[in-house]
Amino acid sequence: MDIKDLPLKSELPERIRWFVRLRWFAATGTVLLGLAGRWLIPGLNTMPLFYIGLAILLYNLIFRQLRRWLDARLSIHLQIILDWLALTALCHLTGGVDSPFILFFLLHVVLSSILVSRRECFLQGLLAIVMVNGMTLLEMLGIWPLPDFPAIPVLPHYENPSYLLVFLFSFNAIILFIIYLSTFLVQQLRRREANLLELQDTLQRAYTDVVKMDEAKTRFLRIVSHEIRAPLAASQSLLQVVLEGYAGDVSAKAREMIGRADHRMTQLLEFINELLDLARGSQRLPEEDKNDILVYESISRIVKEMEAKMAEKGLRLSIQIEHPNVIFRGDLQDLERIFHNLLGNAIKYTPEGGEIAVIGTLLPDNFFLFKICDTGIGIPPAELPRVFDEFFRATNAKKELKTGTGLGLSIVKKTVEKYGGRVEVTSDLGTGSCFSVYLPVIALNRLT
Ligand code: ADP
Repeated sequence: MDIKDLPLKSELPERIRWFVRLRWFAATGTVLLGLAGRWLIPGLNTMPLFYIGLAILLYNLIFRQLRRWLDARLSIHLQIILDWLALTALCHLTGGVDSPFILFFLLHVVLSSILVSRRECFLQGLLAIVMVNGMTLLEMLGIWPLPDFPAIPVLPHYENPSYLLVFLFSFNAIILFIIYLSTFLVQQLRRREANLLELQDTLQRAYTDVVKMDEAKTRFLRIVSHEIRAPLAASQSLLQVVLEGYAGDVSAKAREMIGRADHRMTQLLEFINELLDLARGSQRLPEEDKNDILVYESISRIVKEMEAKMAEKGLRLSIQIEHPNVIFRGDLQDLERIFHNLLGNAIKYTPEGGEIAVIGTLLPDNFFLFKICDTGIGIPPAELPRVFDEFFRATNAKKELKTGTGLGLSIVKKTVEKYGGRVEVTSDLGTGSCFSVYLPVIALNRLT
């Protein structure tokens, strides 16, 4: 049998609980009906219902108590068999084939199909058929005579064997058909469920692989960048020594060429630093390395640092931080890296005479929202979703500015996400862009 056709093992205990819970209702209903029946229809002896209801309550209690020790599948089968017995007795005491309770066999067969495998359900169905057919036969032959049950005063069907035959034939056929249909549907659902679980498993494994690969990439980046940075920085300082004339006279031509080499090395070092920042951005920060940082102070410092660049381009800056007493728990360098990159981009991509606005608002859920908006070149709408990708540069940016690594925004995104925050962008081509950073913070007046 295909494993997918069986109910999930992990779900069986829950299903048993559900089955038992359902039976509490059914049994209590039977007990109450037994008690109330007499009163509702005077002269009607409904005590058999009461006793059978009590019996069901009793074995339900036993199954509930035994659920830790009894094997789940065995328990379900025993419960179904006892239910068949109780139902057969109930039907016998309330009119045999004419008993209204005979319909409960159909309902129970559907319930069973949810709980056991298809084959087991057919076997249980056959058992029900044997019981009902056996009961009818014994009643007809007078071996298990029908008790006097005034609710159905005459039992005409028992005087008409051909009716009984047709009844039993239909009953058996309906039971088998219902089993066929409901187990078919349940089987489809189980297969789908199993496929979904398989898919979930595969996805989980793929995700773990991706995380591992990302970690390996980060490690690789960090090691390689470190290894390259040191000799590069050393070479650059040597070039500067030569440029400054400490190693003898340098011709104008050589000075110009060394100057270009020095410039290229500066670019390369910046690129390596960004690669290192990117690696750091994904690195988790241990709790003991976190500090409480006043956000307002750190923004002000970055703004001060970049004032000269803004002045050079004649850019106007407005800052509006509503809650200066907000603390960020983390690494100062991380926080400054976020501002530095975003403000740096705003300056870089805003033409002379433009405007930059820095807005800070404390949101009700202890998130601080920083908006850095500019009146710069903007980002083409089709390229907007990709701006946070590593090495991505929009076409208009590439045209306007040859230099740029396309790493700044991915560093921002990784760093912000490391702290459970997020970053968003809106932009209009030719009009400007707005970057919004949501960072979890602690509002100082809420500190104890
Ligand atoms: P870089 O600036 O080195 O190209 P970033 O990762 O910082 O790399 O930015 C990625 C791309 O997003 C940029 O190349 C540019 O196309 C776009 N971009 C970022 N900030 C802005 C901005 N303020 N205005 C317009 N475009 C921007």
